[in-house]
Amino acid sequence: MDADTALPPDDVLAQVVDVHCHPTDSPTPGDQMDALKIKVCAMATQAHDQSKVRKLAETYPDKVIPCFGWHPWFSHFISLSDRPVSKEEHYRAVLLSDESSDAYTDAFNQVVKWLPEPTPLSSLLSELRTNLTAFPNSLLGEVGLDRSFRIPFQPYGTPPPRRLSPLTVPVEHQIALVEAQIDLAVGLGRSISFHSVKAQNITVDFLDRMKKKHGRDWLKVNIDLHSCGLSAETWTRVEKLHPNAYISLSQLINQRSPAHESLIRACSPTRILAESDYHDISSTTKYTWNIVATIASLRGWRVEERWDAIELEKPEAEWGVVRRLQQNWQAFVSGSAEIAPRETKAESHRSRRLNAAAYTADEDWDSEGSAEIVYPAATG
Ligand SMILES: [Zn+2]
Repeated sequence: MDADTALPPDDVLAQVVDVHCHPTDSPTPGDQMDALKIKVCAMATQAHDQSKVRKLAETYPDKVIPCFGWHPWFSHFISLSDRPVSKEEHYRAVLLSDESSDAYTDAFNQVVKWLPEPTPLSSLLSELRTNLTAFPNSLLGEVGLDRSFRIPFQPYGTPPPRRLSPLTVPVEHQIALVEAQIDLAVGLGRSISFHSVKAQNITVDFLDRMKKKHGRDWLKVNIDLHSCGLSAETWTRVEKLHPNAYISLSQLINQRSPAHESLIRACSPTRILAESDYHDISSTTKYTWNIVATIASLRGWRVEERWDAIELEKPEAEWGVVRRLQQNWQAFVSGSAEIAPRETKAESHRSRRLNAAAYTADEDWDSEGSAEIVYPAATG
């Protein structure tokens, strides 16, 4: 892993947003929270951390953007039916089929002992609605699709080494859970932090289907493919078809593979964000800043050393990486994809300015060698 990049002055750091991390997976001591200079999007993943995220955001409202939702690694805990089912009946229906071999049945008999009582989807959704409504700045996250996940033999939280069972959660079950959560988020106009692992084509199909299903409402929310593992080629296609899609990169996940370099180079300058995906709040700043520095060097963007009138008056062409990512974050949370960049009539002053910024940036991007950019009409 690369050496850490020296941090910039605090006034620059104060503009940085870690768009995806898991601080409630570790203790969050007051002194470390007080020392935190960046803003963080704190993800929830399962039953017990929704309230932890809520509490952290209540205690540090200026630093923590709360994100509520259920991660695909816990999707098998959810029962899609409202009919009361026994724990064993639920997990058997989700994890086994008529063709399951003895190895699967043996594994099932071991893990079912510690798996929790299933949570009905309806109660998950009602808690999610309560939390998203309580925090007007909250996002949906972490939700998504994961085809590499296997259920461990030991309960979550057991210290390593943990052995993995062969049991996986069918993608249909994962889709049902993520779709129900996204339907709710779209209804409330909340943007989404999306996990996609070994599910490139399924994710692309899912996004296309959400666009058709929700029509104009889909463009009122944005979706961030976090620690994006899509190829540069696939992302370029997604980016053109979905004006509300963004990617965020992390040092910890993306820098494991050299593919992140072509992804960062291929992405539109207005659709890229930075994250740590880390659990320890004392290290989220370092990891976020390292990827910010990587983005800057790959894109040839300046790294700001001050945040004052001289810096803020610079024309867009001279913006540094922090300013660019900050503008991308603001567009991401404001749902600005609602009006496609080339539609100019009857726009508000604010959206005209936003669109002008996106248009100029995409023209730059276009001239860097991408194929023609097609902005789909903002209707479903
Ligand atoms: Zn995550």
